[in-house]
Amino acid sequence: ASRLDGVEMAPPDPILGVSEAFKRDTSADKLNLGVGAYRTEELQPYVLKVVRKAEERMLAANENKEYLPIEGLASFRKATVELLLGADSPTIKEGRVACLQSLSGTGSLRIGAAFIAKFMPGAVAFISRPTWGNHKNIFADTGVEWREYSYFDPETIGLDFEGMIADLEAAPEGSVVVLHGCAHNPTGVDPTKEQWAKIADVIIAKNLVPFFDVAYQGFATGSLEEDAFAPRYFAERSIEFAVAQSYSKNLGLYAERVGAISWVLNDAGAADRVLSQMKRIARAVYSNPPVHGARIVSEVVGNEEMFEEWKGEMDMMAGRIKAVRQELYDALVKLEPNKDWSFVTKQIGMFSFTGMSPAQCDNMTNKHHIYMTRDGRLSLAGLSSSKCQYLAEAMIDSID
Ligand code: PLP
Repeated sequence: ASRLDGVEMAPPDPILGVSEAFKRDTSADKLNLGVGAYRTEELQPYVLKVVRKAEERMLAANENKEYLPIEGLASFRKATVELLLGADSPTIKEGRVACLQSLSGTGSLRIGAAFIAKFMPGAVAFISRPTWGNHKNIFADTGVEWREYSYFDPETIGLDFEGMIADLEAAPEGSVVVLHGCAHNPTGVDPTKEQWAKIADVIIAKNLVPFFDVAYQGFATGSLEEDAFAPRYFAERSIEFAVAQSYSKNLGLYAERVGAISWVLNDAGAADRVLSQMKRIARAVYSNPPVHGARIVSEVVGNEEMFEEWKGEMDMMAGRIKAVRQELYDALVKLEPNKDWSFVTKQIGMFSFTGMSPAQCDNMTNKHHIYMTRDGRLSLAGLSSSKCQYLAEAMIDSID
């Protein structure tokens, strides 16, 4: 007996639990399309060449392992805000960005949520329906009430823009709106530039506070600049916002936990004070961030040649995903020409949001050994050319 006998088993995580089940499957056909992690055509994890190069340089420089400041590595923070807003951004030049290096996207969102709980008491966080599953945990666990806004229209497998605008207009003044900067997870559906402009209008009119989650910069279009359109545009319009950035996907630094939480504000003094309070929060959670991944980022971004190399590798990864997207589409059309499969190629980023029901997803796993989240999301980053036909057959079998 234990004094903790009353503790119930927590449910498996809807995304990482899929990888655990995949590992237990002994079938030779098994395919892990659950977690959003890039794999090679041979379905192996991929370490970017430019990351290895940066690590070699770091080893040669024989750097120490002293604590970083609470706010993180200065060169990393500079590179990170410049990547987001552009190196010539007036917001950066005027010292109006409060940037704290944190534990990848998740930890950055968490510090942002804790800041909201502490300094914006009563503010409700609006998240898209659907969204990345962890958003709900993050806000709930920090004591920030969350509600959903309409985002996805299953009929068109596209954006429910009118529903989204109506819900934002109805949100209480001062609410936080969580927005995916690009490559919306899980739907792969992003607003157009014109739609972002209207979203900004409502945010200004209703005095809402955007909180961008930028986990896929470079993965939507293959261009770092294009994928940062929304936050750059909001900054140009002097909208104050928070933003969580991650290097898990675009630099493949999943396990290094490299990212940042920033507030982009209209006053440099406010930015200083906000940074000091985010440091206060981080100090009591993990004290200071890890150095290794931050050094990789600052090596890569700080060196012109390596930066170009990174862009090339990002383009290669985004290109491989686009290619399997097309091959999956072709295979589906060939097998079932009377169905509209255009959503497969219309969606962007790492995922395909299929509209499959939980029962159909279970069939994919139990019968075909294809592992995916039960919201109908397939990670195309884990698909190879040679498996497209197998996947298409399984999808058609499961949907019919
Ligand atoms: N936000 C979104 C929308 C994501 O899809 C992910 C990862 O899948 C993250 C944040 C955070 O990932 P990490 O904590 O590895 O940076």
